[in-house]
Amino acid sequence: MTIDWVRGTCPRCGSDQVLHHVIGMPMLEAYESSPPWVVWEGCMGLGPERECEECEHSWQSEDVGFAEEPEPRYDARADEELPSEPAPLRVVGAVIVRGEQILTARRAPGKSTAGLWEFPGGKIEPEESPQQALIRELSEELGIEVEIGWLIGRGEGDAGDRDLHLDCYWARPVGAAPTASTDHDLLEWVDRRDLQGRDWAGPDVPIVETIVAGAVPRFRRS
Ligand SMILES: [Zn+2]
Repeated sequence: MTIDWVRGTCPRCGSDQVLHHVIGMPMLEAYESSPPWVVWEGCMGLGPERECEECEHSWQSEDVGFAEEPEPRYDARADEELPSEPAPLRVVGAVIVRGEQILTARRAPGKSTAGLWEFPGGKIEPEESPQQALIRELSEELGIEVEIGWLIGRGEGDAGDRDLHLDCYWARPVGAAPTASTDHDLLEWVDRRDLQGRDWAGPDVPIVETIVAGAVPRFRRS
């Protein structure tokens, strides 16, 4: 028996130096064949958890990336299965920096939330890390290549009948800056101090507030 663990990357800083803390008592074979970054915690605790050796961020793996639909809940008293809450829609946004300026994008007419400003990005697909999703989305939407930096924070909202989680990252263009978007009718570079003077989409608001409050762009290789 070998264990086919995927080590993955840190959702905050992008490091691949991720530790897996696993609750439970493994079979001896599993214990012996697991890679050194799998840390068996025994029977006590809350469940498998992830920790980054570089930035010391810790997280629950199911709270990051594409969210699988949950199993129905079994109600023992009623002896029936009840549908679970739908999985949150996980999207990522890029705060693209150029010196003191930040790229803002206005949703085009005909798109949902038309006329509101947001950070460009989109949905995380199955098997993608947040950073991979962002690189793909910015290539499709803005036609640019970017370096993804650290996580800034999460904004929340509604997407129809499900919750929406928006994780925003620092980013900077590798090469040409974007000039047009498939989803937006206007792109504007804005001084970070002036970010608040416009109508932002709801999930982007806490990110704007974090930046205006002084969050500093952070990249793995500065
Ligand atoms: Zn990290």
